Amino acid sequence: MGKKSSKPHPALLIVGAPGAGKGTQGKVLGTLPRFFHCACGDVFRSLDTRTALGQKFVEYSSKGELVPDELTIGLWKVQIDNWIETYHYKPDIDILVLDGIPRNVEQAKIIENYLEVYTVIHLTCPDREELSRRMRKRALKENRFDDASDEVISNRIETYVEETRPLIEYYKDKVVDIDATRQPVEVLGKIIGEIVKLDAYKERAKIVV
Ligand code: AMP
Repeated sequence: MGKKSSKPHPALLIVGAPGAGKGTQGKVLGTLPRFFHCACGDVFRSLDTRTALGQKFVEYSSKGELVPDELTIGLWKVQIDNWIETYHYKPDIDILVLDGIPRNVEQAKIIENYLEVYTVIHLTCPDREELSRRMRKRALKENRFDDASDEVISNRIETYVEETRPLIEYYKDKVVDIDATRQPVEVLGKIIGEIVKLDAYKERAKIVV
């Protein structure tokens, strides 16, 4: 069994509106050694919708709203511990790439002692039409009911502006803005450019396993 660590977990956060490309970038980073991608939305989507928690997820996400903080953080911690126990995520050598969590300042405060946040990648896309276009496309490709209707899409963007964007101010000393309207490969290049500057990355890069 992997060891649960009491030390804060080194983490890189990806923050951005729905459709900005957090998942696309997080998934690629998660394929690299020393990085572990955790998308909170994927954790929710993997729930059996017949369970109480699965039902809560459907209830909130189908309206474009956030699932209540305590439920979210509880589920997320259990999932992280599972990944540690099964050696998928190795907190002593991996940097957590968190996509979609924390999703508001309250969540950031709840998990503050649990994480050591090295940098916050802010994927910027001021064009709501472009975000909506990307969500509609994703709804078709990935069968995501929460991205399918114009009303839910617009609620998701509003929820981002009101609840998630304040994180940029909260983490202001650690935030790096990256233009998410560029090609995904260029966005990835910029993110990697930021990662290799981090001391936490440099230390891990020296570890031979
Ligand atoms: P995402 O895949 O990140 O766009 O998330 C899909 C949906 O899952 C969101 O619209 C929320 O309903 C829910 N969700 C994902 N992450 C969180 C979070 N950290 N806090 C609350 N709700 C979340």
